[in-house]
Amino acid sequence: MSAEHASPSPCNASKAAIIAAAEKFACDAGLQPGEPLEPLVERLGGKVCYKPLDDADFDDGSIVVECQGRFTITLPAYTGAARDRFTIAHELGHYFLHFPRCCAPMAAKRYGSDRVEWEANWFAAGLLMPSAQFREAWQAWNGHAEKIAALFGVSTRAATIRAKGLGLV
Ligand SMILES: [Zn+2]
Repeated sequence: MSAEHASPSPCNASKAAIIAAAEKFACDAGLQPGEPLEPLVERLGGKVCYKPLDDADFDDGSIVVECQGRFTITLPAYTGAARDRFTIAHELGHYFLHFPRCCAPMAAKRYGSDRVEWEANWFAAGLLMPSAQFREAWQAWNGHAEKIAALFGVSTRAATIRAKGLGLV
């Protein structure tokens, strides 16, 4: 991330609108629950790489967008597959929600607190756990959060938050 890259600013759409946009994108892209995201990133013109092991800031993911169709998502070196998936989906949220508003190359780091980060998390939830499929799985597995998390390739925590958001728990 350099000084030449702008920081994202919030799109200020509602949580429901952002989740709906992510679900529509997942549907249009033919993304199935639990399917790896890397091929999708590649189709969009992006790449995914890992932070070097000696990077002190190892807990953060980030995205640097040079222009439409050219971006790099960097993942922390020490996290698991479910966390990496959520990070990729989160960074795609910055790409779809925030880059179009930014008339310059953009860089976003993952802090997890301000509005911009919430928006990216909502996008990630919608992309990885579309509501219709999630509800169906929740019924089928009787609310077994670990099983449902494994099916969607997310952490149990992410699945539980989604279930709460959908009024299932
Ligand atoms: Zn972020």
